[in-house]
Amino acid sequence: MDKFLTKKGHLRAVKIKAADRVRKYLEGTLHADDGLLFCSTCNVVINHLRKHKIDKHLESSYHTLKAKTSV
Ligand SMILES: [Zn+2]
Repeated sequence: MDKFLTKKGHLRAVKIKAADRVRKYLEGTLHADDGLLFCSTCNVVINHLRKHKIDKHLESSYHTLKAKTSV
């Protein structure tokens, strides 16, 4: 049983950190704070575990409108 406990921290790397996502996108697009992923333009939290969600947000009319008006 103890052997299992010592293995903690080596769970298969399914969980990606918000900060990892930030680096995959253009600088200034996203930022991470307190483990959460934010859209820098809209200042909303995005579920960073799903890339699909991020892409969907960046394509959303809400985001593109914000991006246009915030320049
Ligand atoms: Zn946005």
